Amino acid sequence: GEGRAFTNIELGSILDMGRAGIRSLMRAQREALRGQGEWLLPAKRIVVATGNAHKLKELSDIFGGMVELVPMKAAGFTGDIVEDGDTFEKNAAIKAEAVAKFTGLPALADDSGLCVDALGGAPGIYSARYAARCNFAGDHDDEGNNQALLQNLKGLEPAKRTAAFVCTIACVLPDGREFTVAGDVKGRILESYAGNGGFGYDPLFFYEPFGKTFAQLSFEEKNEVSHRGRAIRAFAEKLKELLGE
Ligand code: IMP
Repeated sequence: GEGRAFTNIELGSILDMGRAGIRSLMRAQREALRGQGEWLLPAKRIVVATGNAHKLKELSDIFGGMVELVPMKAAGFTGDIVEDGDTFEKNAAIKAEAVAKFTGLPALADDSGLCVDALGGAPGIYSARYAARCNFAGDHDDEGNNQALLQNLKGLEPAKRTAAFVCTIACVLPDGREFTVAGDVKGRILESYAGNGGFGYDPLFFYEPFGKTFAQLSFEEKNEVSHRGRAIRAFAEKLKELLGE
């Protein structure tokens, strides 16, 4: 704009030309790299159906720059989702479908919990509300959940206290495609707490290969072997396949 300022119309058309130029440069780069150039594009966005900052961090750490993860609130979704499925898969899908429908963007959701063999798979999908279901304490009360679990396993010998953490991730794409992946990790429920890290049932979940409970692991150690870490890595592989199509 030497001499005089551009008018809004002139400025708009210059910006349009700039955008068109950048798009054609990127097209040429992608063609030159034959598909590998997917990763040069502006990040693909996936809305994550969670308000849990801890989960978002775990997901972002594993995805790196592959996709841009948008918390559902930032995408405008503030509604409540009724998780009334009877499996981890169904509950994860219910959440991902609701958010994908609302935002028109790909959405992912996870559902996880602890399954104890001697309790026929309980707490399972009710892991967050186990204490309340056993009339022990309120909803979403980690201490109450752990106490209820200890009570229900009282007197059971160590070899029979086997359990697994399970995590299912569901993804719904705008074209209607939908898939789920899962990860699990086996362990044993101790008779008293050990460790201060993690959350939920971590202080009672003993992981044999490390000789420690999940509450005694660093963030990185837990991520390496946890149900969620495994499910997220399986999810990232699946996503790469889909994006490569
Ligand atoms: P949600 O997937 O956030 O609904 O998790 C359900 C519940 O499972 C949590 O409230 C925890 O009690 C339990 N849980 C899930 N993942 C973990 C974990 O990594 N450590 C300990 N508890 C977990």
